[in-house]
Parts: sequence; structure tokens; C-alpha cells
Amino acid sequence: MIVDSHCHLDRLDLTQCGGSVDKALQQARNQGVSQFLCVGISLETLPEMMTIVDQHDDVYASAGFHPLEDMRKGLDADALKRWALDDRIVAVGETGLDYFYAKESAESQREHFITHLKIAAEVDKPVIIHSRDAREDTLAAINQYAGSAAGVLHCFTDTWPMAKKAIDEGFYVSISGIVTFRNASELRDVVKKIPLDRLMVETDSPYLAPVPHRGKSNQPAFVREVAQYIAELRGISLNELAEATTDNFQRLFLRS
Ligand SMILES: [Zn+2]
Ligand SMILES: [Zn+2]
Repeated sequence: MIVDSHCHLDRLDLTQCGGSVDKALQQARNQGVSQFLCVGISLETLPEMMTIVDQHDDVYASAGFHPLEDMRKGLDADALKRWALDDRIVAVGETGLDYFYAKESAESQREHFITHLKIAAEVDKPVIIHSRDAREDTLAAINQYAGSAAGVLHCFTDTWPMAKKAIDEGFYVSISGIVTFRNASELRDVVKKIPLDRLMVETDSPYLAPVPHRGKSNQPAFVREVAQYIAELRGISLNELAEATTDNFQRLFLRS
């Protein structure tokens, strides 16, 4: 069985995955996907997202405020903490720093990121981190504020030294369909080096569909292709890769 460690079920293009979230999940289960982490990107959309989560025993949820969301709306730290304490929420995030798309809001992103890290440490849950063109600041914040529950660098596309530093801080590294893209040879070298007991796979659906679905809207079923690709890259069986990444997911998010 395979886990999609990062998807946005409330944003799927349903016309491309059977017409409903239920169908999208069923298509994924048919591909051997057994658990899904539906990641929150704003507190406003969480109640609607939770209606999906509440209907499926194999879907878990996180609560956070994405660094590319409209920063002018601000982050209600008390509300985030209330969500973080909710039993149905297994992680805080996604949060982090995206200087590639939104360098101009770097300061508010940093402030919100630190708030997430502090709340995650307080409630002792892992944090889901989005980091793009922000290596130094991401690592500095993790080093200073991350709690012992650590977390994951999701949709990782950065360098091996960055992965290594995060791993040394107790973090996991999750790889999306980007690894299958033709121009991702540097990332492929990094993926070969990540210790198997720190690796996860994800779709980040509806974004970033892997080859051969590139250009289409992504869906959780496609995590199988990501896992298959990484297994071949590392010269191991899909089964071995699936088992290790599932164990990692359950250890980090479900504490089992
Ligand atoms: Zn992200
Ligand atoms: Zn995401």
C-alpha cells in the first residue's frame, strides 16, 4: 500500500477524476493508495475541507495558512491553535516560505511560519513545510523553533545539503511528481541520497501531475506513478518503497 502524504482534496478538478471526491479516492484505492493527508491552506476553507475528511476513515487532515495565500488577510494564531488541538488534525501546515513566487511578502511569511512552528511545538504535532528559494531562512526557523515532533519538507526540490540538514533536525522529506519531469536531474540525484526511513511520496494534487499525466490536473491515484518512478530510480521494488514510505508516514503523523 502507498500513502499520498500531501493532497488538496477540496481543490481537485472533479471533471478529471470521476466527478466526485469519493470517486477520486476510490480510483486511488484501486491503485493501492491506502491513506491520504488532505492539507489545509487557509483557516477559512478548513470547515469545508473537514466535511470531506469526516466522511472517510482513510483521510487525515492538517491545519495551516499557506505562504502564497493572501497575506493581507493575516493569520489568527488563536484560531490556528484551536484547530491544531482538534483530534482530527494530525499536523500543522502547510506553512513555510516561498520567495520564488512571493518575495515581496517575505516578512509576513516568516512571521506566520514561526507562529506555525511554535504552535506545532506547543501541541506536539508535526509541521508540514513548503519552502521555495528560501533555504537559509527555512533551516534557521526550523533550527530555532521546531518542536520534537519535527515534520516534513513537502514537495522537496532543493539541494542535498538542505535535505541533510533538515533530516538531521528530525525531519522527513517528501517527493512529488516533479521528480519525473525531464529537467529534474538534480532532484533525482538528491532523491537517491535520502535515507529510505526519511522519505515520503505525495501528489500535491491538483498541482504537479507526474509524467505521463503532465499537463492534466493531478489526483491522488497518480501517487503510484511517483512511487514507481522513485523505486526504479533507487533500484528497489515498488513494494519496498511503498512499505518504507507508508511506515514513515504513520510514524510521523499517526505516531504508530
Ligand atoms: Zn506546498
Ligand atoms: Zn500543498
